[in-house]
Amino acid sequence: MIMLPLVHIVDDDVHVRAATSYLLASHGFPTEVYASAEEFLDQANLERGCVLLDLRMPGLDGLGTMVRLADRRVTIPTIMMTGHGDLGTAVQAMKLGAIDFIEKPYQEEQLLAAITRALDLRAQERRRTEGRSDALARTAKLSPRELQVLQGLVGGLSNKGIARRLELSPRTVEMHRARMMEDLGCGSLSEAVRIAIDAGLSPLGAKCLEPAGNRAAMLPPPGDPCPKLSTIEPVPPAEELLEGAIDCIFLLDDAWRFTYLNRNAVEKIGRGRDLRGTIIWDSFPLAIDTLGWAELHRSAAERTLGRFQFFEPDVDCWFDVNVRPVASGLQVAFRDITAERQTNVALQMSEETLRMVLEATGDGAWDWNFETGKITMSGRFVQHLGYAPGELRDDIDAVRELVHADDWPVLDERLRDHLSGKSDTFACEYRLRRRDGSWCWNFDRGRVVARDILSGAPLQMVGTACDVSDRKAAEARAREALERLALAQGNSGAGTWDLDLETYRLQLCSRSLEMHGLSPDGPTELSDEQWRACLHPDDVASTREALDKAVQTQTGLSIRYRTVAGEQCRWVLGLGSLVPGSRDRAARFVGLNLDVTDSMEAECALQRMQSEIVHLSRVSAMGALATTLAHELNQPLTAITGFVGGVRRYVEAGEPNDRPSALEAVAGAERGVHYAAEIVRRLREQTSDAVPERKPDSLSATINEAVQLCGPRGKGRHGIDLEIDEAADRVVIDRVQIEQVLLNLLRNAIDVCETSGSAKQIVVSAVPFTGSMALVRVSDNGGGVLDMLKDEIFKVSFTTKPQGMGLGLSICRTIVENHGGEMWVENNQSGGADFCFTVPCQ
Ligand code: ADP
Repeated sequence: MIMLPLVHIVDDDVHVRAATSYLLASHGFPTEVYASAEEFLDQANLERGCVLLDLRMPGLDGLGTMVRLADRRVTIPTIMMTGHGDLGTAVQAMKLGAIDFIEKPYQEEQLLAAITRALDLRAQERRRTEGRSDALARTAKLSPRELQVLQGLVGGLSNKGIARRLELSPRTVEMHRARMMEDLGCGSLSEAVRIAIDAGLSPLGAKCLEPAGNRAAMLPPPGDPCPKLSTIEPVPPAEELLEGAIDCIFLLDDAWRFTYLNRNAVEKIGRGRDLRGTIIWDSFPLAIDTLGWAELHRSAAERTLGRFQFFEPDVDCWFDVNVRPVASGLQVAFRDITAERQTNVALQMSEETLRMVLEATGDGAWDWNFETGKITMSGRFVQHLGYAPGELRDDIDAVRELVHADDWPVLDERLRDHLSGKSDTFACEYRLRRRDGSWCWNFDRGRVVARDILSGAPLQMVGTACDVSDRKAAEARAREALERLALAQGNSGAGTWDLDLETYRLQLCSRSLEMHGLSPDGPTELSDEQWRACLHPDDVASTREALDKAVQTQTGLSIRYRTVAGEQCRWVLGLGSLVPGSRDRAARFVGLNLDVTDSMEAECALQRMQSEIVHLSRVSAMGALATTLAHELNQPLTAITGFVGGVRRYVEAGEPNDRPSALEAVAGAERGVHYAAEIVRRLREQTSDAVPERKPDSLSATINEAVQLCGPRGKGRHGIDLEIDEAADRVVIDRVQIEQVLLNLLRNAIDVCETSGSAKQIVVSAVPFTGSMALVRVSDNGGGVLDMLKDEIFKVSFTTKPQGMGLGLSICRTIVENHGGEMWVENNQSGGADFCFTVPCQ
């Protein structure tokens, strides 16, 4: 079985990849599949086969891939696969060099035709470039004179003819010719001529290059009578030239007999030189009454040059035939142009596709011939400017008159850069005056497609024109809006930010750059890493967490974080909202930055002050506690001292007769000891980390009891809502201790709601949690907890309440941890706090 060339399939959809690969394999094509453009660029052997490239992919898309391939100078034939409605982008892909595009869902024949075309073109291109680069390397070795001699030979001139043209002696030409053959490293004239043709050398004296693949240009224009023989310069059919010619050539005498066949003709016809002397119509009876038959008869009768193309079904080939009457009869030169025709057909098809696409997108096209100076613009383009066909003059000066005076210098410079070869392509946006005097913005892209091989001067340039007035107007509006925003920002001191959620690249305005400790004139786009580097290390994780959460929940964002520049630390408040992604853009977060350093410093100072006050009051509270404790303990201690002292005295005095009273004293001392122990036990109960006595219990019952214990404060206008998932009800806990935890959290929640003045909304929920735990959450709508304090509040003696002891949360966490659970705080969407803890399930 013949091994077909490889097809690379690049698509992010696993099902599309598998199905396309399966389909192509069924046609014998080996395939390789890639889930992303990056994978394709990294792993594929780009020297082989062609590629089916999906236009829309996460990460690098189809167009981006084509740009990367072009950057790497890789010319793998590319077929773009597009979704419905991506026509505009498909045009761009064609402009970037895609051979074809097919719409998904594709039809099998369409897909196969596109692939076959792409692979054919690749094979032809390879043959051409191999031959061409070798030929260019060889002809580069020639001196200018040797080159001219070679061009003379390409033009079919004899040494004498060349000498006449170059005004040299035939001997000198002969000498140059010998050296030229040596320099080219070839043994025969035909080989030299083939090299010259591969290198694209024009015949000596020819005015311009014959554009490759456009042989029709050599045909006499339709309706133009063929020149009479008397006007044709006679070229003697020197045997040597005929043998070396790249065409197949034979001569016929007046009786239609073959008198000569060159080597190529013998090879092509495959009948050897035995045809000599035979009558052509006897040897090829099927040719009678064909186009060829008629043309040969016409040339013979009228003694005029003839030229035609015909298809020979026997050999499945197209031939280009030139007939020249000579003294002895007719000289017939023919050449196999099958491959050329196929290329032309493919080219025409591509051109046709491009034309249709141009039509569909409203782009115009132009063609600039530098020899005639004529610029041909497509009807659509001319019409678009408001002119009737033919109304506009067609030279560069006429175009210049239409271009806005302010835009001409840039347009002129870009053109010059491209024409001189400084830039690969020409692209420019400029204003053009319409017939009614209004201006339209035009975006032109083009490139030189033919240059003179010797001087490099441009011969032809083609391009497309696209009206971008709407985009320009939108840009102007956006600029105005930005200016207004900048003005407003300037007054409010706010900055803007815009975060692309696909790439995590952040755009900052100059004001925001300053807030991040960066130069306001520096680059406005930051990578994720650059942005993190601006943040205080302690705030990196919490900021990212808040952002991710806002993206997940699709809610607005409000984060406060510190930025560091050298020694200086600033507080930034970032407010933002989500902008959903569109066809052309990924989802983004956009918003404002405010420098809140001053207010945060004030808040911190206030907090420090509060903490100090609290510390003082705690010291005094401790003092009060100590006094009470001392007082309370002193009572039993005094009693103990008394009883013990009395008994000792009896014993010392040897008067054990008052036994009953001694026993009573010892019992009193014991009571005192118990009482003191009880006081100590109660104190320890407040602060201890006693091992819990865990039993299977009901979480809902425990929560209900704790809510009851809150008393009337827990009722209020809205009371406390419970949301308990039955699946989390059976837990293993020390009910008293967990009630203590809940009570503490509920009291704190009530406190904060009361002080913030908001209508109280407290919810206690319980749900199953990972690791066979239940998660209990006490949510309020108070003021929440500052990120920087989320750990602090669990420390002993941290409090912001005038009467607080700062012990509650620390004890709660100890109790929860003794149960094997964890406790933390989060801020919720109602602006309040969620105190969460976990306990083991049964
Ligand atoms: P105390 O209640 O004596 O202050 P806690 O340890 O119970 O001691 O609380 C410590 C601090 O935690 C409180 O002073 C308060 O600043 C903060 N806090 C506790 N609960 C909340 C809450 N629901 N919302 C906001 N802040 C809270």
